[in-house]
Amino acid sequence: MLKKTIAQLDPYVPETPLADLEAQTGVTKITRLSANENPFGTSPAVQAAIQGFDFSSTRLYPDGDANALRQAVAEQLGVDPQQLLFGCGLDEVIELTARTFLEPGDEVVEPWPTFSEYKLHCQIEGAQVIDVPLAADGSFDAAGLATAVTPRTKLMWLCNPNNPTGTYTPLAEMRQLLRQIPESVLVLIDEAYMEFVTQENGSAVQLLREFSNIVVMRTFSKIYGLAAMRVGYAVIPKNLISAMQAVRLPYNLNSISQVAALAALNDTAFVAQMRQRVATARTQFAGFLDAQQMTYCRSQANFIFFSAPRAADLHQYLLMHGYLLRKGLRPGWLRLTLGSEADNAAIQNLIKAFYQSAR
Ligand SMILES: *Cc1c(COP(=O)(O)O)cnc(C)c1O
Repeated sequence: MLKKTIAQLDPYVPETPLADLEAQTGVTKITRLSANENPFGTSPAVQAAIQGFDFSSTRLYPDGDANALRQAVAEQLGVDPQQLLFGCGLDEVIELTARTFLEPGDEVVEPWPTFSEYKLHCQIEGAQVIDVPLAADGSFDAAGLATAVTPRTKLMWLCNPNNPTGTYTPLAEMRQLLRQIPESVLVLIDEAYMEFVTQENGSAVQLLREFSNIVVMRTFSKIYGLAAMRVGYAVIPKNLISAMQAVRLPYNLNSISQVAALAALNDTAFVAQMRQRVATARTQFAGFLDAQQMTYCRSQANFIFFSAPRAADLHQYLLMHGYLLRKGLRPGWLRLTLGSEADNAAIQNLIKAFYQSAR
């Protein structure tokens, strides 16, 4: 009865609600640092906008084109509003991409490890996903990605900065990589964490005029602290946008989410402050890992991916002390979302204590 591609899927497991996890573990208060959420919250402008939402309009369908949000995002990015496609989270845009372009037997190329949802949705459509391992330092193997392309390749995913490594590929290197990919391959550049980059202002939005085969994706879930509202979007080449719009559900972005995302977008001071706080925490945490002589990937995102001896035990130890990290992305490695200054300090003390007691 099931379609063949569904039978062996490795589904994306959503985060356990914190109250359930606290009940299961008996730990009074758990701080989730496993989903790259913003530990500092959301712009107060968002709360004001939601409180100002006209309740009497609840009976009406939302604006199916999210026009106010569309205009504001287009202006901020310097793109044509008609090139934007919004989704119920970037997750939905990822699903839509697979749904629009892939047929059974098609091939998709991605670096590995990367965000697992790419593979999930490509496999549901019956495509074969070719994983090209990242270089040892976490950077893209550009030559490997280019050689993995065959006449059957339809899509290539490039997450920049990459999840889970946090590794950032500068714009010049991205341009070099894209030059090696045939125009017949649509390259999907997931910039969920681009706003956290302090190294240079290197969004692939700047490459949209140079390359006709790239899509740039963004989300409100990470730096804007709006994960609950489910808003993501993509900038799409003009010749492809109507096809993707046709596949999209007509009212996929609810009215309150549209209002919230617009308020978040306009609070540029909040975003700048978050970028600064996260960058400070990132440098501090990397310094701690250096001092402990632990191996990690250089991150430009709001998380750090590190190699931890006895990773499963450390994960459990941190959980029992109130901190949930992400495991299972690469054997022996954990991913930590940078938290508040106090939480980061507490975690560092716990890591030290764990390895001291193990000796
Ligand atoms: C979190 C994340 C997303 C999904 O974001 P939503 O907008 O919350 O669906 C997409 N891509 C990457 C790389 C992410 O880390």
